[in-house]
Amino acid sequence: MNNLQKEVYYVDKRILDIIRNDFDLVDKKDWYELYQSKSDASYWRLDSWDKYQQRFFLKLDSKRNWTKFDGNELMMNLLLETRGVSDELCVWKDCKNPALNALAYCVYHAYGEIGIRK
Ligand SMILES: [Zn+2]
Repeated sequence: MNNLQKEVYYVDKRILDIIRNDFDLVDKKDWYELYQSKSDASYWRLDSWDKYQQRFFLKLDSKRNWTKFDGNELMMNLLLETRGVSDELCVWKDCKNPALNALAYCVYHAYGEIGIRK
């Protein structure tokens, strides 16, 4: 049982321990590693190690085209869930979305334009 209820996680020591204990490495390609859960056979993708980039571990629908899976929506939702929103509006021109906590931008502009991941 791997206890991963969500479909995307920031990679930290806890996640790396879970991967080591509960997953099998299936493939490695294009800066990604493909893992399969020992408990439910689901496929997950891990970003290869990079000291400048936040790494993610995310659940895939299948292993078909696994390196091409678009994880942006999952990663954006994780950013939103982790930060939460404030009472301020995003400062991007004409944007009416709430800004993320401790940031001047909403999740779309923080993620898409500024490149914030966490
Ligand atoms: Zn915005």
